[in-house]
Amino acid sequence: ETVKIMDVNFLNCSKKEFLHDYLVPDLKNNRQKMIVTANPEIVMRVREDNNYKQIVNKADYVIPDGAGIIIASRILKQPLKERVPGYELMIDMLEFAGELGYSCYFLGAKKDVNEKAVLEAKKRFPNLKVAGQHHGFFDIEDEEFARKIAEAEPDMIFVALGLPRQEQWINRHREKFSNGIFMGIGGSFDVLAG
Ligand code: UDP
Repeated sequence: ETVKIMDVNFLNCSKKEFLHDYLVPDLKNNRQKMIVTANPEIVMRVREDNNYKQIVNKADYVIPDGAGIIIASRILKQPLKERVPGYELMIDMLEFAGELGYSCYFLGAKKDVNEKAVLEAKKRFPNLKVAGQHHGFFDIEDEEFARKIAEAEPDMIFVALGLPRQEQWINRHREKFSNGIFMGIGGSFDVLAG
């Protein structure tokens, strides 16, 4: 089920399998989960930074993002099924959220990028429920700020704060939330904003 590459345990499933076999049941059962879409940059960071390694190893799902990860898995003779780019996974999750009525919180990126990304998401998925949004330039140790986001009870929380801050924020604050699928998404709001 998982393939270990340099201390990171990757979930071995296609994007479609991940969405249908893991994500949808988690949403239906109000489970709280943390997704890391790990590219070679994240794997290297795990090697160098023990604190980051512990956080990534606590994530519920580590998804292979990047051709380098797939190539490494083949060399190890435990081939991962496919590359799942974080941006594509986020878009598919937004689509699910729109169709199934789950709410999303958009946390991170510059203020204008964050606003544009939310507008674009609403344009693409008109039924999308936005639980809230905030730019990514704040103190990640701010407990009160995280509590306010938790009060919105979002079903999905997309966190674009860059490495390692996004994973640190999720790890530090997730227990304040009653449920929710947390995902660090790096520069994906910038891509969505265009
Ligand atoms: N970002 C943020 N707050 C920060 C640092 C970065 O919101 O304190 C945002 C940045 O604007 C971008 C995203 O995080 O939208 C990813 O940043 P970057 O590409 O620098 O990080 P990476 O994940 O590539 O290390």
